[in-house]
Amino acid sequence: MSELIYITEDEEDILELLSMMLTSAGYRTRGFTTAKQMLESMEQELPELILLDLMLPDLDGLEACRRIRSNPAWELVPIVMLTARSDISDRVKGLEYGADDYISKPFDSSELLARIKAVLRRSGWESTRNILNITDEFRLDFNRYEAWIKGQRVDLTITEFKILQLLTRHPGWVYKRSQILDHLWGNDKVVIERTVDVHIRNLREKLGEFSYMLQNVRGLGYKFDAASKESKREKNKP
Ligand code: CA
Repeated sequence: MSELIYITEDEEDILELLSMMLTSAGYRTRGFTTAKQMLESMEQELPELILLDLMLPDLDGLEACRRIRSNPAWELVPIVMLTARSDISDRVKGLEYGADDYISKPFDSSELLARIKAVLRRSGWESTRNILNITDEFRLDFNRYEAWIKGQRVDLTITEFKILQLLTRHPGWVYKRSQILDHLWGNDKVVIERTVDVHIRNLREKLGEFSYMLQNVRGLGYKFDAASKESKREKNKP
């Protein structure tokens, strides 16, 4: 079945144009003119990607983005922001709020399709099963809070799983220890930051050959980077 894309855009002619473009490119689409309608629909069926206009009448794109990212059942859905503004600060804000990419209006249809395809490929997310395929051999099952490596279930604690969940949200992004603690325990700062190091160390041990994906960034925090696998493989070639 082809991927489902949600399009949320209050300008109906643009919405129609986007639907036509994506449908003819082989995607299934569902269109909404308000963010509230879109969020309601997400309770029924999750899309593989959301194309989200920044300026919307009821609830703006940034707030919708924030709500999606703060819902554990939705946080992995890739979001591409549509913005009419050339203002760089809006784009930066969009990415900070958890958008995966942005496209400025007016857009070029081939560029838009290429960006969507790239975000879908990068996300490796199967919405119907809520599974993130990091590689063919390493996957995370967010319904069951399980990590699988080469068909074997890795015995992770909930805390370790949650750390992976956070870091894989934006591969390559550096998360400070304090951000990781916030994700784990909210604002309850009884836990010291060193705790994060302990969890990460245990996690790396359990991930075995994939442990290199969890990287320490000196003086800052941690990041998840699966991409470095390619260069590692290159180096390992005889
Ligand atoms: Ca708009």
